[in-house]
Amino acid sequence: MTKLNCSVLAFVLCLVTLVGTAQAREQKSRYVTLAYSDRNVLREFNDNLRLNRSLSYSMRKKNVVTSADEVLAKADIIIEKVQVVLDMFPNKYHIRLVIVPDSSDVARIYKRKYGKRVNHIAYYSLSEKTIYVSADDVSLRVLAHEVGHSVVDFYFKVRPPYNIHELMAQFAEKHVTD
Ligand SMILES: [Zn+2]
Repeated sequence: MTKLNCSVLAFVLCLVTLVGTAQAREQKSRYVTLAYSDRNVLREFNDNLRLNRSLSYSMRKKNVVTSADEVLAKADIIIEKVQVVLDMFPNKYHIRLVIVPDSSDVARIYKRKYGKRVNHIAYYSLSEKTIYVSADDVSLRVLAHEVGHSVVDFYFKVRPPYNIHELMAQFAEKHVTD
């Protein structure tokens, strides 16, 4: 290989690395690190996650260019609302939001981690501080419920009993639209 070819190759490799890095880059907002399998899944999630009127009002202050920006902005608004509803404002709250195509993907991830078969459309992993959610099934209430679990998780130093955890998540789900 000539010296010229070699440097061209190095340049191409460098470009490939840069592009690869850009795609793998995690997108973050104040409260959320976002992960998704592809753009179509992200778009479907964004379409299904419709805010109500009063929450939409908060979107006007956000600087939104891409679908990812919009999803992150909506997630932050929902998180702030759930914190108000629960009257819990934990320090250092930050979660991962993993968007998968449908409920079979949620079930697959759950089975791999816990060895149990479930038909959840979403769940919050306490150990990973991560919400897994199906783009197909998401709605404001679905996401508010899982955010409720995460806020409760970050707020309490001693984890409340499971039924109380669930009650508070249901409360967040019910009142996010108030
Ligand atoms: Zn729950």
